[in-house]
Amino acid sequence: MRLIDQIYIDGAFVTPHGTELFDLYNPATAQVIGKVRLADAEDARRAIAAAKRAFRSFSGTDKAVRVRMLHRMHESVSAHADELTEAVIEEYGAPMSRAHWMAAHASNVLLDAAKVLESYDFTRRAGIADVVMQPLGVAGLITPWNSDAGFICGKLAAAIAAGCTAVVKPSEMSGIQTQIITRALHEAGLPPGVFNIVTGRGEVVGAEISAHPDVAKISFTGSTVVGRTILRAGAETLKRVTLELGGKSPFVILDDANLAEAVPLAIQAGFMNSGQACIAGTRILVPVGRLKEFEEFAKAAVEQTRAGDPRDPKTDIGPMVSQKQWERVQRYIRIGIDEGAKLLAGGEGRPQGLEAGWFVRPTVFTSVRNDMTIAREEIFGPVLSIITYRNEEEAIAIANDTAYGLQAYVMSSDVSRARSVASRIDAGRVLINTLAHEPLAPFGGFKQSGIGREYGRFGLEAFLEPKSVVGANAA
Ligand code: NAD
Repeated sequence: MRLIDQIYIDGAFVTPHGTELFDLYNPATAQVIGKVRLADAEDARRAIAAAKRAFRSFSGTDKAVRVRMLHRMHESVSAHADELTEAVIEEYGAPMSRAHWMAAHASNVLLDAAKVLESYDFTRRAGIADVVMQPLGVAGLITPWNSDAGFICGKLAAAIAAGCTAVVKPSEMSGIQTQIITRALHEAGLPPGVFNIVTGRGEVVGAEISAHPDVAKISFTGSTVVGRTILRAGAETLKRVTLELGGKSPFVILDDANLAEAVPLAIQAGFMNSGQACIAGTRILVPVGRLKEFEEFAKAAVEQTRAGDPRDPKTDIGPMVSQKQWERVQRYIRIGIDEGAKLLAGGEGRPQGLEAGWFVRPTVFTSVRNDMTIAREEIFGPVLSIITYRNEEEAIAIANDTAYGLQAYVMSSDVSRARSVASRIDAGRVLINTLAHEPLAPFGGFKQSGIGREYGRFGLEAFLEPKSVVGANAA
């Protein structure tokens, strides 16, 4: 049984002032595998004070110095990739291939930020003014459990590139992964206080960071409900706030799509990260005339989807992260049935042969109407809805009939037609005939999927404030 009893403040591993012990689980067995000692509000204040002290000199560092720091961080996170992969499988339950991708992603985002920083000009001209982009101050970075190291590194990379210092508050459910990533980042040898990592409860440590007057900026990834709480808490001191929240992404199959290609992509997009993905394409919009054909392809694709032991290389879908998440998915499957949707595949309970662990059956509902609960609320598990439409106008209307707007997908054999549909969908990112990720492009949501953008230039500027200096060249 592992005990994680240190947090990271001012360049050192320290025992938290908080004393609560929180159980860590292996979701594939539902067994406790460790305990993490949680930080409290006092720890959060110490971390903020350290970040504030460090900001004075760090904000004035040359960009070349910060590029080198990001490279060192990339190298040390890469060096811990195997250990991190193992922890992702054990503590989060991601299937092996996904876990490898997640570990690589955590180090790659640091390199991506270095690239953006290298080509970024912090001063530009506007008429007779010099516009100087200045780091905001101490950034509070609050992250969820569904890609612990990736979110920590992604947010930290942008903050450091900008010249901000940071206090990171990871999910309390990811203690083992956070410990590995903290050690790796420590080995990169940044000045003390530039980043601090305090694992604690959201309503304690997260709330302290969101309200503290010495925190200038919050970057949060998580649920829409917590995002609203953070925005309200930050309003008191007018913090700059970036929110990456939930989604209910439409996967639009146009009537000319090649289903042999589009259906496997739809199933992959829906079941990615075991369905615990904010960008999952959970509403599949199918032209009514091609429904039967689509259903046949979809049924076959789901039959080939393996839910089970994350260590088995053939597994596509691992367990849900927690008992609470398992129950949530079960509840939504029941609601779907009660509201009259038809099960095309899957259903309630565990997959055959899996008695322990928080495994769910990969589930696809058909005959779903867009006003049903399963089409409106984020389930955060491998549960997809097929919704039919009669014409392109209706497809676009259904795609946009949601409180969310994080991502959308359009499948068509006519790319210009797909582009025109994409231009009318309200989402921060639209993927046409692909599931590709572009790390230099901005990422974030329209509507209740969030505020602001991460990654690339936009992500860097989310940690900067423009200052206009007029008259410098007057003489
Ligand atoms: P969550 O909102 O419950 O928690 C996210 C983080 O916020 C955790 O670290 C948590 O401890 C903290 N938190 C909780 N209450 C807080 C408070 N009052 N003040 C400050 N911090 C608080 O989300 P989760 O259950 O960890 O993650 C799942 C959710 O995250 C899903 O809804 C999903 O859509 C969303 N998500 C979004 C993205 C994206 O990029 N848009 C990516 C991944 C996950």
